[in-house]
Amino acid sequence: MKESVVAFAPGRVELLGNHTDYNEGLALAAAIDLGVTIRAEKLDTDVIEVSSMTNGRQARVSLKKLQKLEQESWANYPIGVIKTFREAGFEIGGLRLLASSNLPIGSGLSSSAAFEVATAVAALELFGLHIEPMALAQLCQKAENEFVGVRCGLLDQASSVFGREDEVILLDFRATTARTVPLSPGVALLLVDTGVPHQLVGGEYNERRTQCQAAAAALGVKALRDVTSEEISSASLDPLIRARALHITGEDERVVAGVAALESGQMQKFGQLMFQSHESSRRNFENSTSFLDALVEIAGTIQGVLGARLTGGGFGGSTIWLIESDKSREILNGVFEAYRQKTGATCKALITKASRGARLVKATST
Ligand code: ADP
Ligand code: MG
Repeated sequence: MKESVVAFAPGRVELLGNHTDYNEGLALAAAIDLGVTIRAEKLDTDVIEVSSMTNGRQARVSLKKLQKLEQESWANYPIGVIKTFREAGFEIGGLRLLASSNLPIGSGLSSSAAFEVATAVAALELFGLHIEPMALAQLCQKAENEFVGVRCGLLDQASSVFGREDEVILLDFRATTARTVPLSPGVALLLVDTGVPHQLVGGEYNERRTQCQAAAAALGVKALRDVTSEEISSASLDPLIRARALHITGEDERVVAGVAALESGQMQKFGQLMFQSHESSRRNFENSTSFLDALVEIAGTIQGVLGARLTGGGFGGSTIWLIESDKSREILNGVFEAYRQKTGATCKALITKASRGARLVKATST
């Protein structure tokens, strides 16, 4: 029996397919080389002890009474995972979890999903339990939806699970499938954080979901996956609802075009799709901010940048840039000053790469 394990789950970048997950659509994402590491140990008592080196906090709850914490709300992510897996029949007993992370929180890189997935991998390994990868992602999503109370779609958890080195993940949220497509070796991913955190717990995310549902209902379909941009353009719809719907169908269409571009090595074309995606976020979905727009505008002026867009839910957070790897240094050097001049704010930038998904790092038996 394993007495202690260490698991790692990465954050993710969404490359195309913004807000498509809850519309049963398509997305292209990549796991990145930053994430959450969880060390898990068995305890003899029926409790969960969680501590995080990131915030220096601790929480302790009884396994028999797993309820949401008000004060230590950060601990609801791992506690929710344990509760959800136990309710799904996985016999996870008392354990101690220690989290550490090199992933920025609230930057749109999905530290919450990385926290959940790392917890799930560690807890299942510790108790010798097995699950299919997509089911693992879905139970983590359920924990965030129902226990933490954030209505996130499956993109974050699935990307953290299915990542592969130098490959991007094509996710189909209707079929609930994932497959990977190689990324050209000549390109790199640059993350540029606006320095202004996003607030997904705020109302906008849920409002957008409701608007997408309203669009599907007005069009008489189950989800926006069932319609094309052309059909929306010719339907009679409230202008705001039409704009929201056009973003989603446009994103699904850009994912299909993006896969074709990747498969034929047309990275310029892929980059253009990213710029178009951002423009649609800005105009149709209104989930961009002036800071995100400033970064994407700057990206458009720098040589060697193929594409850029906001990544994740929006309303703050980070942009993802697709760049020619041999120009990384010059591009990085230019961005800080350009952003400071344009906004007066300071951005953070780092080169990342498409990386492996969640995994066991170490197991110790006694
Ligand atoms: P994102 O997922 O984009 O980073 P969210 O708001 O969805 O942003 O999730 C961030 C929350 O997840 C944090 O506020 C915190 O509660 C929790 N969290 C993530 N990583 C850690 C960590 N290493 N330690 C403690 N809490 C964490
Ligand atoms: Mg999150």
